Amino acid sequence: MKSIRVRLFILLSLFAGTTLTLSWVTYSSFKALMDSRRQLELSYTIRDEVEQVGALKPGTELYRRMQSYGPLLQPDRRRQELTDMLQAAAGNHAAQLNVRHKTFVKNEAEYQRFMREEMNYLESKLLYYGSLALFTMLFGFVALQLFISRSVVRPLHVLSRKMVDFLHDRYTYQFHVPSNDEVGQMQATFNSLAQRVISNMEQLKTLDQAKSEFLSIASHELRTPLTSIKGSLSLMRTGVVGKMNEMADNLLTIAENETDRLIRLINDILDLAKIEARKLPLHQDWHSFTDLVKTSLDSLQGLAGQADVHLQCDSMPAMEAYMDSDRVQQVLTNLLSNAIKFSPAGQTVHVQCEINDRNELLVTVRDHGRGIAPEDQEAIFQKFRQATSVSNPLVKGTGLGLAIAKALVDQHGGMIGVRSTPGEGSSFYFTLPEWRYNQQRPALPGTEKVA
Ligand code: ADP
Repeated sequence: MKSIRVRLFILLSLFAGTTLTLSWVTYSSFKALMDSRRQLELSYTIRDEVEQVGALKPGTELYRRMQSYGPLLQPDRRRQELTDMLQAAAGNHAAQLNVRHKTFVKNEAEYQRFMREEMNYLESKLLYYGSLALFTMLFGFVALQLFISRSVVRPLHVLSRKMVDFLHDRYTYQFHVPSNDEVGQMQATFNSLAQRVISNMEQLKTLDQAKSEFLSIASHELRTPLTSIKGSLSLMRTGVVGKMNEMADNLLTIAENETDRLIRLINDILDLAKIEARKLPLHQDWHSFTDLVKTSLDSLQGLAGQADVHLQCDSMPAMEAYMDSDRVQQVLTNLLSNAIKFSPAGQTVHVQCEINDRNELLVTVRDHGRGIAPEDQEAIFQKFRQATSVSNPLVKGTGLGLAIAKALVDQHGGMIGVRSTPGEGSSFYFTLPEWRYNQQRPALPGTEKVA
């Protein structure tokens, strides 16, 4: 495996090793240059001061100073020459002092010339290695940045793009050539993970399809006998087979209501199966939306009366919408019947139709029931889902009405949703994108329908 860690370690070691070596050479050159400068300055001072060889007598200030310079001189040869000269001065050997003085002055002049050349050389060396160290440092930083960007940042960016694609179902889960390092391993793991999720999803889709087919066949087979059972029950209640006593009549009413509920459930399942299989064509045309609202309200008067709930509609101008009116009525009826079902007795359900700021027809059904917990507000639009929080105990229902409503509104190009505060009520709304005013027809004056 071409590990990023190993490559980074090698790169850092190379970079640090080279920079440290060059910095050390630069530092040594600088130190040598400073030493040489000190020695040269000292040499100039001594040479100036011993110019007057006659003044070099023991006990004088000059003599003491010369003695103090001795330990500072480098190399040892110079120190020795100075000591020899001072000894000759102390011994009062004038001839010997003259010879040693001449030799010292001559050798110091030689030494100064040599040191000037040495300093020139050290200066160039300092400049050369200093620049090289600086350049290596800069080059190392750039190389390090390039390496991290190419080996880590860029592949991670690609991985995160693939993840976002995957999230939005646009993913073709293969990295064509995942690299052979740690990030490459992550990419390969993600490949396998995505592949597994996709194949699981495909399996789920197949199972869901099989389940939907089974449900639709079973529902179809159930509907015919149920319709004839309902017919027979209705006939019996009309007294065709003789007069029923009160108890039998009650039992027949219960049986008939439950049969109705079963038929509704079966119709819902069949509708949903058709919508999912895209076999429910919409018969869209321009229809009066005002009439649709009025008919829906009228048809729910009985239900509202039983629940002691008032239906109230705000006034609206005469409007038409491009829609399948039966299906949109199904949506509105479902929202209204839910609102009635979940409203306490004596409360009012409001219907409002207006144009929103996206120029769509917006229909809102507002109730003052117990509301829906935030975590359930999205889930209730999925099939067979009901709000199940403690404050919302299961009520009789199938959990299909909103799923069908959502599918129908989606098919019309609109959107459906809910705003709700638990304990205060809910506002279900849906939109229809294509609408227009119709001056020829009467407006809905804002009816308060008391059940
Ligand atoms: P059903 O009413 O047959 O259960 P729906 O799909 O119409 O199926 O509704 C799903 C769930 O959404 C309901 O069971 C209920 O928990 C919740 N719900 C729908 N409308 C309302 C409402 N107006 N107030 C409170 N809860 C509601």
